Amino acid sequence: MPGRLYHQDPRQRPGRRSLPTPQPSGTDTVMHKIHQIYIDGHFVTPHGTEVAPLYNPSTEQVIGEVRLADETDANAAVAAAKRAFASYSRTTKLERIAILKRLTAAFTDRLDDIKTAMTEEYGAVRGIVEGLIPLAPAMFDEAAKLLESYEFEQTRGTTTVSMDPLGVAVAITPWNLSAVFVAQKVANALAAGCTVVVKPSELSALQTQILTEAFDAADLPPGVVNVITGRGATVGDTLTSHPDVAKVDFTGSTGVGQQIMRNAADTFKRLTLELGGKSPTILLDDADIPSAVGAALTSGFLNNGQTCFAGTRILAPESKLDEVLTAIESAMPAFKAGDPTDAATGVGPVVSQTQFDRVQSYIRLGQEEGAHILTGGEGRPEGLDKGWFVKPTVFTGVTNQMRIAREEIFGPVLVVIAYKDEQEAVAIANDTPYGLQAHVFSQDPERARRTAEQLEAGTVLINRIFGDPEAPFGGMKQSGIGRHHHTYGLESYLEPRAITA
Ligand code: NAD
Repeated sequence: MPGRLYHQDPRQRPGRRSLPTPQPSGTDTVMHKIHQIYIDGHFVTPHGTEVAPLYNPSTEQVIGEVRLADETDANAAVAAAKRAFASYSRTTKLERIAILKRLTAAFTDRLDDIKTAMTEEYGAVRGIVEGLIPLAPAMFDEAAKLLESYEFEQTRGTTTVSMDPLGVAVAITPWNLSAVFVAQKVANALAAGCTVVVKPSELSALQTQILTEAFDAADLPPGVVNVITGRGATVGDTLTSHPDVAKVDFTGSTGVGQQIMRNAADTFKRLTLELGGKSPTILLDDADIPSAVGAALTSGFLNNGQTCFAGTRILAPESKLDEVLTAIESAMPAFKAGDPTDAATGVGPVVSQTQFDRVQSYIRLGQEEGAHILTGGEGRPEGLDKGWFVKPTVFTGVTNQMRIAREEIFGPVLVVIAYKDEQEAVAIANDTPYGLQAHVFSQDPERARRTAEQLEAGTVLINRIFGDPEAPFGGMKQSGIGRHHHTYGLESYLEPRAITA
């Protein structure tokens, strides 16, 4: 019997699609079977035949499987989006606003299911799912509000400038906070009049299934949004080099971002790239140390240490180093690793065995490089003998030249780097290939702003760790190209055409 992932859909339209049903596996674990992708307004069986297992990282158990799309499916999805673009690009602002409002409602309707999937699929803890997931429907709502005032036809001197949709867009997303990234990209694209092929991570099939059901429930014109889960090396590669794709909007690692730029070069695709980070948190010597350290650790361990903008380098004044280290040790009980469904848990597991091994290798590397472990270390946290749980780890005695201070670890591993004065703090903060986010803590607003203005990062936050949803979001240097949110995001899907008579 067809059914939604986790819940039955009271608005099922028989005959239009067939949705997967969780199957009992013979144990207590529900086996999710995701065997369809979404092209041209229909759930269809992929041409691709590879079936990949899905794991719960808290138990290491297989909880389901996903059948992956291949190059043929990628071509079919682009063809559907191209057909849809012919009419969707000519929709009025009012029609697009109506669609965005339907998407806000459809995503809001599935918030609880998205939260459940995040915890089951990658071990997201309560704080993350409750705090960040409402941002997903908000992306559509904000895009609808922006359209109300945005002028697609503008006048410059004697010239009429029409802001035209670019064409077929490809949205490629990582597994963490999948709903927010998918919503952010699709909201911008649809507001601009572009059609989209979404290629989510093969590690986020449960989240993707719910998002796809939400797209379907929003009654979009066929082909306007297509969703195909497949591997990066096959589906991702086909999409990012496809001649009929005008724009690639990618969130993921810097290495894959470089590959996408190379693929896009042949046909000059427009690019938005949101990549990795190694964000600094500067504690100035007048900061309120206990509260600043609490915020710094919250940022660093966010999403089990798997957040692009996490403050993973804590820069502490030499004069207050002992106080900072003591404050870190006192704050650590709030970042206890364990079952992500337990409200008392601060840090859940990392996403996969591969990522667990990678993070462990960095903890070994830090010691080999001569850094000291203040808290945490190798192996699983006490009392946890299975699950990809890492001990929340903080290194001291770190220099900014060590690899643990330069490379994105993407796990709950932070470094404390001591600095002599404000100038040196800024120099260390900027001495990184990345430039996504930076944080400054101080009780002196002028001093904090003066420091913030010298930092090479797309977002600089003073005495806070979460950005303003009204502000542009994106990275400098190797953290990316382009910005999301509001007109910055919308215009990244538009091309100005100047007509001068
Ligand atoms: P990843 O780069 O491995 O994968 C991201 C997506 O790219 C996946 O859908 C993957 O299948 C696809 N992909 C892989 N190879 C590809 C190729 N050759 N062509 C096209 N697509 C390809 O990243 P991940 O492990 O899923 O996520 C973690 C990374 O994402 C971290 O580096 C993190 O910093 C970054 N990230 C950045 C932001 C941001 O906003 N800047 C947000 C979240 C995550």
